[in-house]
Amino acid sequence: MSTFRFHALKETLKREPLPFEETTNRSVIFGKNVFNEKTMRQYLTKDAYKGVMSAMDKGIKIDRNIADQVASSMKDWALKKNVTHYTHWFQPLTGGTAEKHDSFFEPIGEGSAIESFGGSQLVQQEPDASSFPSGGIRNTFEARGYTAWDPTSPAFIYGTTLCIPTIFVSYTGEALDNKTPLLRALQAIDKHATAVVKYFDKNVTKVNANLGWEQEYFLIDKALVATRPDIIMTGRTLLGHAPAKGQQLDDHYFGSIPRRTLNFMRELEYESMLLGIPVTTRHNEVAPNQFELAPMFEETNLAVDHNSLLMDIMTKIASKHNFRVLFHEKPFAGINGSGKHNNWSLATDTGVNLLSPGKTPMRNLQFLTFFVNTIKAIHVYEELMRAGIASANNDHRLGANEAPPAIISIFIGKQLTNVLKELENVTDGKLSPEEKTDLKLNVVGKIPEILLDNTDRNRTSPFAFTGNKFEFRAVGSQANCANPMTVLNTIMAKQLKEFKIEVDKLIANKDLKKDEAIFNVLREYIKESKDILFEGNGYGKEWEIEAAKRGLSNHKSTPDAIRPKVGKKAIDLYKELEVMNEKEIIARHEIELEEYAMKIQIEGRVLGDIALNHIIPTAVNYQNKLIKNVTGLKNVFSKDFESIAKDQMDLIKKISNHISGINNKVTLMVNERKKANVMEDPEEKANAYCNKVKPYFDEIRYHCDKLEMMIDDELWPLTKYREMLFTR
Ligand code: ADP
Ligand code: MG
Repeated sequence: MSTFRFHALKETLKREPLPFEETTNRSVIFGKNVFNEKTMRQYLTKDAYKGVMSAMDKGIKIDRNIADQVASSMKDWALKKNVTHYTHWFQPLTGGTAEKHDSFFEPIGEGSAIESFGGSQLVQQEPDASSFPSGGIRNTFEARGYTAWDPTSPAFIYGTTLCIPTIFVSYTGEALDNKTPLLRALQAIDKHATAVVKYFDKNVTKVNANLGWEQEYFLIDKALVATRPDIIMTGRTLLGHAPAKGQQLDDHYFGSIPRRTLNFMRELEYESMLLGIPVTTRHNEVAPNQFELAPMFEETNLAVDHNSLLMDIMTKIASKHNFRVLFHEKPFAGINGSGKHNNWSLATDTGVNLLSPGKTPMRNLQFLTFFVNTIKAIHVYEELMRAGIASANNDHRLGANEAPPAIISIFIGKQLTNVLKELENVTDGKLSPEEKTDLKLNVVGKIPEILLDNTDRNRTSPFAFTGNKFEFRAVGSQANCANPMTVLNTIMAKQLKEFKIEVDKLIANKDLKKDEAIFNVLREYIKESKDILFEGNGYGKEWEIEAAKRGLSNHKSTPDAIRPKVGKKAIDLYKELEVMNEKEIIARHEIELEEYAMKIQIEGRVLGDIALNHIIPTAVNYQNKLIKNVTGLKNVFSKDFESIAKDQMDLIKKISNHISGINNKVTLMVNERKKANVMEDPEEKANAYCNKVKPYFDEIRYHCDKLEMMIDDELWPLTKYREMLFTR
């Protein structure tokens, strides 16, 4: 075993669980480090409190005087907790989070100093953030962008820093981050959903989109990762032979959590509690060393911030416990990858979940309205949903025979399928009193009961109805949820807007009653969007064929998947709903193409390096051992030598074949990279990386993995799959 690998394994085996003891109940510490409503009530004047609350609830702008008061109170609160710095915390288009810390400390001359933090520092900052991707937006006008306070997500303390969630925009107002379009989409869904809810309940004044994410991840010992340049540089293994045992026994799923891992989880949960992230669930996932955690769902903007924050603190706490956390969508070939299920629902300010049926027929008609409109929205904009989850990493899951497929479809279960069938037969125009009664009693009236015993589960569906919410399962584990949530809420807002227009038209032109008009429109929607519904096996080849017949898209690679983002349909949609303008859309597309090409470029370089600098020398080394053996045999058995040394000589030849296989393919890959690198057009370049460079990865890997099975385990330099996945 290579010395490095040996020491790494030894260190891993020696590890003791890092102690972690909780001293108080979680409910006591929950939100302690958050400038939340409770804290604000305590620290803010009545006016300041009112100002912030109406900014949070109604989007009303906070005036300067109030901002000064809030800043001063935030500072007092933070100083009591030994905070020294503050930062605007934002989510640039790199997908991660960004912060630039400034001190409260301010010298005021004559050797004295004060702690200062005013409204202007709270409200707006100009980080010199010109290195973040902007897709050319900033170059055209101003080099800098600025961050602006988002009062809808509360400030929090992490370590000794006060973090203020902000948006990040250019001087001309274009979004340079993931949060800005999300906030606009949430405004759009609020507006159009509220308008539709008013058919059912006039008291509703606001609709919130809720998000409950489930985060999957792997934990691998830090020392083992140190022997894997591929994980260090790309977050995933680029080679490695499958272990004799993988996940086929399902013995890891929901199994007992190892103590070292459990201590990590407990500390993580403790920190999450302090930050007001309501983490409630933890368990082992299907793959060895794969885990999941999920919080209670929250308002979408807050949930997105919490997910980004959590990923950041997970990385830090994992490191403390000598783990490296892998968020990559596919860190190990042949073993399940990680996703981030996005559970989505809409709720009114009167406390009603619009995707949950209720006790009265009217409530259920309201449920059906939102349910069917969701189906229609996804059907019309399935390509945008796919585009919203596209990334180089996620391509390994979506396009590649693993959960879920790259085809967007919706699973609703047998019972609701039957309900939709009934609704499809509703009479055109006015309904007879008998039909109304029948609908009320036998169709709409029965929905809560059928849902209660609706135990249908379909794990292969990318978008499934799960009783009182839809679950978007195709989101990547590393992704920022803002992207898919912006798409989903925008298309739903657009759909509800159309719905309202059509219902109102029927009421006015055909003299229909409100519920008659709604039934009529829903009937047409069900007919039009049937093709998006699919209850079968989403992984099967048959579904690909069937989906193609239905005209559903099946984009397997990122460059293909994100193309529709810049199509007319998408640009019109985002413009109409005021979520993004054309410039912002095109910039984002360009950034994603560039990021894609860079990712594949880096993977190609790392793979080439490992193959040439680690694998080939090891192969030559072992080959020399064999040659020595054969030469020795020749000396001992000169007569029968040929038959005695046959296997060794075959092995020597095989090794040579694989060595030249590697050399050959790496050279070809490097040539393709060179060609791609001089391409100016980002789409052409991304396509070249996708179609010309990437295909060599599997070929190079094939030879390396074969060698792993031939070469003396003593010599192999890289920690093997079985060691990474089964050593605890
Ligand atoms: P699964 O069976 O998919 O693993 P879990 O119970 O682990 O389900 O996760 C359910 C997730 O759904 C949690 O994150 C939870 O907060 C979220 N969730 C529950 N109800 C709603 C809702 N009404 N809206 C949005 N998310 C919800
Ligand atoms: Mg789930």
